[in-house]
Amino acid sequence: MFDAEGRQDGSTCPECGRSDQTIRWHFVEGFDEIECKACGYRSDELALQELHREARNTLDREDDVAPPRTDPLRA
Ligand SMILES: [Zn+2]
Repeated sequence: MFDAEGRQDGSTCPECGRSDQTIRWHFVEGFDEIECKACGYRSDELALQELHREARNTLDREDDVAPPRTDPLRA
C-alpha cells in the first residue's frame, strides 16, 4: 500500500478540463497523481495503460521475427 496525502489544489483535469473537482495525491514515494471527481479520471490508470502498451510493444517486436503474411492483395 502507498502512503498518500490527497488535497484539492486546483489542478486541471487533463480529461475534462475542470479544476474544481480534482484531487492531487502526493505520494511519499515521490510522485503525484491526479484524481478527478467530475469524470473519474485517474492519472495512475494512464500510467498503467502506458505500462501495458510497452508490454504489447515488446510482444510486437517478437512478432516481427515471424514470417510475414503472404496473402495476395485483393482489388
Ligand atoms: Zn475530469
